[in-house]
Amino acid sequence: MITSKFTKAHLAHLPTPFELMPNMTKKFKGPNLYIKRDDATGLAFGGNKVRQLEYYVGHAMDQNADALLTTGAVQSNHVRQTVAAARKMGWHVEVQLEHRVDTHAKEYSESGNPYLNKLMGAVIHNFDVGEDELGADKAMYDRAEELKVQGYNPYVIPLSATDKTPWGSLGYVECIEELCHQASESKTQIDAIILGSGSANTHAGVLAGLIALDMNIPVYGFCVRRDGIAQTERVEIKTRKVLTLLGIDETKLTPGMVMCADWVLAPGYGLPSSEVVDAIHTTAFEEGILLDPTYTGKAMAGMLGMIKDGKFNDNDNIVFLHTGGTPSLFGYPELVAGK
Ligand SMILES: *Cc1c(COP(=O)(O)O)cnc(C)c1O
Repeated sequence: MITSKFTKAHLAHLPTPFELMPNMTKKFKGPNLYIKRDDATGLAFGGNKVRQLEYYVGHAMDQNADALLTTGAVQSNHVRQTVAAARKMGWHVEVQLEHRVDTHAKEYSESGNPYLNKLMGAVIHNFDVGEDELGADKAMYDRAEELKVQGYNPYVIPLSATDKTPWGSLGYVECIEELCHQASESKTQIDAIILGSGSANTHAGVLAGLIALDMNIPVYGFCVRRDGIAQTERVEIKTRKVLTLLGIDETKLTPGMVMCADWVLAPGYGLPSSEVVDAIHTTAFEEGILLDPTYTGKAMAGMLGMIKDGKFNDNDNIVFLHTGGTPSLFGYPELVAGK
């Protein structure tokens, strides 16, 4: 395994399934639509952060940590999976919820992920500023200092791109190795990979994994938090860091390889457009596969938009990376209002 020199905690149910979406393929007539089911990584409803946490927690184990801290939006899946990882390790856990999404739905702040954080008994802090990534990270580092005084050895998982080593991306280097193996077993040549791009740990890990394997597959990232220019820069920075971590020449990442489309982002983080709501309903109706309004619904709307615009050839094999997020559906009762 490319990542075998790094310490890893075993938190996920792997490998996740790699499957055809037969009904979506039929409906949209053209490319074959496959799905990599990383919503099925297992731990506390799964999702992509479980793979990332295997390496963050591995790094924390190397430092003899006994407490985890992280920050995210109120409906953050990353926060929920971090709480679950700490619980599985038997560690103390504190999380900070940033008030990023302007919604008045009571369910947004109480149901889905925030409900699960409470169920797992996390210590919860609130951070009222919506868009201050460095400030949110700093508040966690300050809290970690207090925990040290209390005798803990805390490990902080930061969210900003400029800070720290992207250990979590190693989980997506591993995912790509797993996916390429599954594809070759089933004699499927992958022509494109589609994913949602947020903190960029997933996007950077996927690109670094493909570079490590010398696989030339285009990766289409759909922006969920910032515009295409800012996200492209962020993915480039992170991918270079991951390559360096793996001991691979970072110049193997060439500018055209990072693709981030942002038309699905509007009206903003955590808020789905009508195309996104349609994509969620279509995928649920056709395949019984549940997407979410913040990430996977946006990536699916992006993929369907590309199909409609004729961006793929008939019989191309497209892989949609399902990164999870389904518990947050319960924070958005309006998605089924009137049905
Ligand atoms: C966090 C998240 C993403 C984005 O992954 P990053 O590694 O942060 O870019 C995509 N989908 C879901 C469901 C997520 O929770």
